[in-house]
Order: sequence, then C-alpha cells, then structure tokens
Amino acid sequence: MPFSKLGLSEPVLKAIAELGYSEPTTIQKQAIPVALNGKDLIAAAQTGTGKTASFVLPILERLNNGNKLRGKRIQALVLTPTRELAVQVEQNIANYGKYLELSSMAMYGGVDSTPQKQALIWGVNILVATPGRLLDMVHQRALHFDELKVLVLDEADRMLDMGFIDDINKIIKRLPIQRQNLLFSATISPAVRALAKRTINDAVEIAT
Ligand code: AMP
Repeated sequence: MPFSKLGLSEPVLKAIAELGYSEPTTIQKQAIPVALNGKDLIAAAQTGTGKTASFVLPILERLNNGNKLRGKRIQALVLTPTRELAVQVEQNIANYGKYLELSSMAMYGGVDSTPQKQALIWGVNILVATPGRLLDMVHQRALHFDELKVLVLDEADRMLDMGFIDDINKIIKRLPIQRQNLLFSATISPAVRALAKRTINDAVEIAT
C-alpha cells in the first residue's frame, strides 16, 4: 500500500517521497488513518518501527488545513522522555513539514532557556518538549496552551520510568479538555494504562 492511500496531502507526500520512503510501515498503516480521523490512540510500538511519522504526519495534516499558522500559539505538544528524542522528533517534523508553513521547536533542560523563550515569542506551532523544562516554562508564564489541539505522549513507559508522572499530570491539567490524545509506548504496562485512563477517552488501541 503506498503512502498516497493514507489520506495525506500533496506537500506531505512530496516530503515523504524526497526522504525515499515508498511504503508506510505497519504502525503507520494502522495509526495514521485513525489519527487523521481525530480519534484518540494508544499504540504499542518500539523505536525503529516508524512510530514518529505515525503521529507527526497526522499532526501536520490537522494543523495545516488551509490555515496560515506562523506566529500563532502552540497547537500540538509532544512530550518525550529525553532531550535526544525531543531533538529527533523535531527533526522529523521539520523534514515531513518542509513544504508547509509551520514552525516547530524542541525544548529541553540543561541549556539556557533564553533562546527557547525567544522562539516561543516568535511563535511555535508544534512544541516537542521534555516534561521538566516544559513545566518550568509554564511556571514562568512563557507558554500558552489555549489553542492546543493535539497532545502526544511519546515513549510513555520511559517517561514514567524516569519519574515524570507528576510533571506530566501537572502539564495535562493546563491543557484544553477538548483535544486529541496520542499515546505511544514500547510496552503498555499497568502504569501506562493508568496514565492513559486518566488522559484519554475512547481510544483506539493498536499493537504492532
Ligand atoms: P522511528 O521508529 O520513528 O524512530 O523510525 C525509525 C526509522 O525509520 C527512522 O530513521 C525513520 O526515518 C525511518 N522511517 C520511518 N518511516 C519509514 C518508512 N515508511 N519507510 C522507511 N523508513 C522509514
């Protein structure tokens, strides 16, 4: 099955073709149509399966939707356990979204927050962040989530293993209740399921 059968737009298909991907992976085939429909999703997927595109592509489509987005507030938030993963996901967004008018940023701790704050002032449509630094910025009133449409919890099991549960709960409390939730985790442990139960309604579940 080619990518063109998944309901993606021309600018996104063009970017995918340039990356040299001819066929969606198993998780992409299953997750992309569900997420494009606006449904919540719980997906069991290991790194290396193509899981990143499974949430990045639907986010790009949802946010693109004919609007000019530059300068607007955060519309999608991706939480990741580590700085490395945040950077990697943001690079994927930039690659797949190269023909769209969208801005994205990776935000993580351990570095000076001044450039990150400046970027937020210029306008970030898709924010990829580690929970600790994100909460820091929330407390500094540098972040506004009133236009947020999509939340992704990436590698949820790792975030819980790293002790981010309190931060995640505090962040989620700040988000609009009406939003799409996409959860990806290598394993759906009882702790992940408990997080999903509090965060997500009527999710479609996918196991790869
Ligand atoms: P991920 O599981 O998202 O970390 O992706 C693993 C690797 O697969 C990354 O290097 C991606 O760039 C690559 N990838 C993602 N989707 C595809 C695809 N449909 N065909 C080939 N490679 C892909």
